[in-house]
Amino acid sequence: MQKNYRVLLYYKYTAIENPEKFKDEHLAYCKSQNLLGRILVSSEGINGTLSGTFEQTENYMNYLKSLQGFQDTFFKIDEVDAHAFSKMHVRVKKELVNLSLEEDVNPLEITGKYLEPIEFYQKLQDPNTVVIDARNDYEFDLGHFRGAIKPEIKNFRDLPNWIRENEDQFKDKEILTYCTGGVRCEKFSGWLIKEGFNVAGQLHGGIHNYGTSKDTEGKLWDGKMYVFDERIAVDINKHEHVVVGRDYFTNEPCERYINCGNPECNKQILASEASEKKYLGSCSHACRIHPNNRYVKKHNLTVDFVLQHIDSNLEPQI
Ligand SMILES: [Zn+2]
Repeated sequence: MQKNYRVLLYYKYTAIENPEKFKDEHLAYCKSQNLLGRILVSSEGINGTLSGTFEQTENYMNYLKSLQGFQDTFFKIDEVDAHAFSKMHVRVKKELVNLSLEEDVNPLEITGKYLEPIEFYQKLQDPNTVVIDARNDYEFDLGHFRGAIKPEIKNFRDLPNWIRENEDQFKDKEILTYCTGGVRCEKFSGWLIKEGFNVAGQLHGGIHNYGTSKDTEGKLWDGKMYVFDERIAVDINKHEHVVVGRDYFTNEPCERYINCGNPECNKQILASEASEKKYLGSCSHACRIHPNNRYVKKHNLTVDFVLQHIDSNLEPQI
C-alpha cells in the first residue's frame, strides 16, 4: 500500500551569496507548506532532511529546483507513514559539514570521483581497495558495509586526525568512501586527495541511494542505516539482514537505540528493553544517579531510591 508521507534527504554544494536572507525565505516557504525537518544553509550550499505529505514534498522539490544553482539537486526519497520530525528548523552555518580544516575543501573544486551504486559494489569486492566509513562511531555500530574500516570518532571534524594517525591501514590501497546521503564524502574524499591518498571514489547519493538502487538493493550492507530523524534506523539490504549492532550492556545482537537518561551525557547506546530496564536507561552509575536523569523521572523513581536499590557496581557485562 502506498504510504502517505515522504522523507527527503538532499544537499547541494553551490554558492549562496546571502545565507541569512536565503534562510529566512526558505523557512517561510517550508512553514507555508507545513513541512517539518532540519535544513542547514551556508555560503557553500544547502544540506537538508524534511518530512511531509506527497504533495508538500513534491512542491518543495520543485521549489528548490526553481532556485538558481539548485536545478540538479539530487533528492533521496523514502515513503513513510507519518512525519519523521516534530519541528521545522532552518539554520545558517559556516560550513555544511564541519571538518574544522586549517584549509577548507571546496567540493566544487576538488572531490572524489562519483561511483554509482553498482560501481561501488564492484569496487568493494576488488582486493586493491579498502572502504572507509566517513560517519561517526555510533552510526557505524548499527550498520555498515561488510569489511569497512571504522574510524573511532564521535564527530566528523575528528576524521582528518584519525586518518593521519591510522594511515598505515590504507596508504597502499585505493580508498572508497561512503556516508548516509553523500554530503560528508564530498569534502572528505576531496580532503583525502589533497592529502595525497589514492582515492577510488565516493558513493554517489550515499548509503541511501545504494539501498534503493535496483542494481544493488543494498547487497554487502550489514545491519541498518542510522538516520537523523525519528525513525533512527532504516533497512538497506533487501537480500539478507545480518545484525551487527550489539547491546551496550550485554553484547547481545541488538538494533535498538536509546539515549542515556542523563541529559548531560545523552550518549546513544544500543540496548534491549530488558537492558534499558535493568540499567535504568543509563550508560553508567554516575549517569544513573544524575539529579535530572530522565529515565528515573519518567518512571517516578527518585535518586534516593536508585541509590538504595541499585547496586553501584552494576556496570556493563562486557
Ligand atoms: Zn551516560
